[in-house]
Amino acid sequence: MALLDIQQRIGVATKKADRAEGSVRLIAVSKVQPNARVADVLEQGHRLFGENRVQEAAGKWPDFRAEFTGVQVHLIGPLQSNKVNQALELFEAIHTVDREKLAKKLADAVQKRGSCPELFIQVNTGEEPQKAGVLPAEVDSFVKTCRETYNLPIAGLMVIPPVNEEPSLHFALLAKMAARNGLDGLSMGMSSDFERAIALGATHIRVGSAIFGERVPSVNL
Ligand SMILES: *Cc1c(COP(=O)(O)O)cnc(C)c1O
Repeated sequence: MALLDIQQRIGVATKKADRAEGSVRLIAVSKVQPNARVADVLEQGHRLFGENRVQEAAGKWPDFRAEFTGVQVHLIGPLQSNKVNQALELFEAIHTVDREKLAKKLADAVQKRGSCPELFIQVNTGEEPQKAGVLPAEVDSFVKTCRETYNLPIAGLMVIPPVNEEPSLHFALLAKMAARNGLDGLSMGMSSDFERAIALGATHIRVGSAIFGERVPSVNL
């Protein structure tokens, strides 16, 4: 079974990197997957999932949460500031904090709710114009702004490396930026490269197609 296979590969990679067992969390990325496949993974006991659209998650997860206990869903796609309140209803973590306007909205909403999701800052390590994320040169000051100006606890950094480059270089860069900012969380690694991410310190890997199969873009939208 795909989930079992991925869990085993995570175990092997974790051991090989001389890291503690259980130090890598597997986020099963369920975006645009048929609900039956998601239910199957829930039935196998997995509880941590990733979605990249607020709207899609809103249409799917309230029902699954009613059926299965202990579910956690992480937002791994872009968040518009006008959807912050909805996002706080839906997600235990947000991996895509990437601009001050969003940090401010999150801070206001978190204060009203009295609880804060786990927050990761997305970094555009490849400096790709079309991609979200803070530029490498701005990471330190953005972490500081989130912490000091907005009183937001930051759990770590997140990256989606450029498609045609060796991801390890981007994982290593992300790990270095996290370390110098005193951040423990590293959200990095997907189906094709999660073992390399684990070797470089990933704490959260985001694996979709290797668990669920190819995505079916026409469903759940
Ligand atoms: C879709 C997605 C993934 C999962 O990709 P796979 O290659 O299917 O494992 C991981 N991270 C982000 C941000 C995604 O949007």
